[in-house]
Amino acid sequence: MNLRLHAFEPASRANGPGLRAVVWFQGCTLGCPGCFNPATHDLRGGSESDTVCLAAEILASAPQIDGISISGGEPFQQPDALLDLLTRLAGSGLSRLVFTGYTLDEIHRCRLGPEILRHLDVLIAGRYDASQRVAKGLLGSSNQQIHLLTGRHNLAELAAAPPRELILHRDGTITGSGIHPWRHLTD
Ligand code: SF4
Repeated sequence: MNLRLHAFEPASRANGPGLRAVVWFQGCTLGCPGCFNPATHDLRGGSESDTVCLAAEILASAPQIDGISISGGEPFQQPDALLDLLTRLAGSGLSRLVFTGYTLDEIHRCRLGPEILRHLDVLIAGRYDASQRVAKGLLGSSNQQIHLLTGRHNLAELAAAPPRELILHRDGTITGSGIHPWRHLTD
């Protein structure tokens, strides 16, 4: 199934508990003022990807990683691809965490929302509100909510995730990510 992708990182420590693959979906219409990643907003931006290939790449790394985090952009604005990707990872033993700008109540009313929630261990939910910025413990702002949907993780594990990281790839490129990325260090 087609997926509009912003970026993929096979191994990150700043996007959830433990070592995780991270998928950033492309496209978000929620328009939070001060969003830290506006390059993810354009629904036609990023690149065309495929859930079959993405799932295969993640599963190939499964022995070395603890889980997968899905962020954006807004993952729930591509619900078919989100559900398909999660379904392909079911049974892998990987922990599954999603960052979303929607609240849990809104997701319950989204198409495929309840089905998607059944695949998740953790949901970090709510619009980013720059006036309540905290940028730690995987929360961008204090109004956002952490929902532990299974007993797999606890709040202390999530709070222990580093706020930022730089990943040096074999080809010499560098990826920076995290809830308090390097460009905000002077905030
Ligand atoms: S929901 Fe997330 S990606 Fe979308 S505007 Fe808000 S902070 Fe940015």
